Amino acid sequence: MTGFLKANYHTHTYRCQHAYGSEREYIEAAIRMGIAELGFSDHVPCPFKDGYVSGIRMTMEQAPEYVYAIRELGKEYASDIKLYVGFEAEYIPEFFKEQKAMFDRLGCDYMIMGQHFMKSEQTGPYTGTPTDDESRIREYVDTVIEGMKTGMYSYLAHPDLINYQGLDSVYEWEMTRMCKALKELDIPLEINMLGISAGKHYPTERFWCIPHDIGNKVILGLDAHTVDNICDVESYEKALDIVRKYDLNLIDRIEI
Ligand SMILES: [Zn+2]
Ligand SMILES: [Zn+2]
Repeated sequence: MTGFLKANYHTHTYRCQHAYGSEREYIEAAIRMGIAELGFSDHVPCPFKDGYVSGIRMTMEQAPEYVYAIRELGKEYASDIKLYVGFEAEYIPEFFKEQKAMFDRLGCDYMIMGQHFMKSEQTGPYTGTPTDDESRIREYVDTVIEGMKTGMYSYLAHPDLINYQGLDSVYEWEMTRMCKALKELDIPLEINMLGISAGKHYPTERFWCIPHDIGNKVILGLDAHTVDNICDVESYEKALDIVRKYDLNLIDRIEI
């Protein structure tokens, strides 16, 4: 179909334990929708100490199989669609070195940053938990900027995941600081379409009025956890309404 995404770099797999369906189903849906580039960016595994096992991401041991599976499908569907394999990752300094080594050794294509937790999911809290604590939004912005300076991340997923409910002036100041830093680094911001269809607190217009003035690049991301998410025309239209309302600098693909 025409009038839909040409590229999507935000796709999960069943390995994260909260996405459903096979990669093949996602790929065939994407082809039907006219998507020319599909990037798998499942939740990055973390080298937890003390034997902790996450219920929301694959293990470090599963990563080679994940990359291999997508590479094989990439060859099989090469004439219909370009596939990439990478991760959606929190920037967590204590895990970064090991995750980068894994990324390099497996020959992954890209990572996007999704800062769901500030330190680790073991210590929490989830970034999307409502808070009026200024230190939390400040830490979010500081961590995103520090992580982006490593040059490892192609864009920032759901930048408005942080759910600070305190003073508007604080929100505006901190998010402006983040947008300016990302503009400087030429890193796009994602309007998250799953947030729209699932009725989450993002995307929020409180945030999207900021990137217009700064001139950030903006990209749409499906954040697909189901095959239906791949075909979500309604959320696509709503995301475009935000782009038009705030006259955002929309790009339709990134260089990988
Ligand atoms: Zn995410
Ligand atoms: Zn995601």
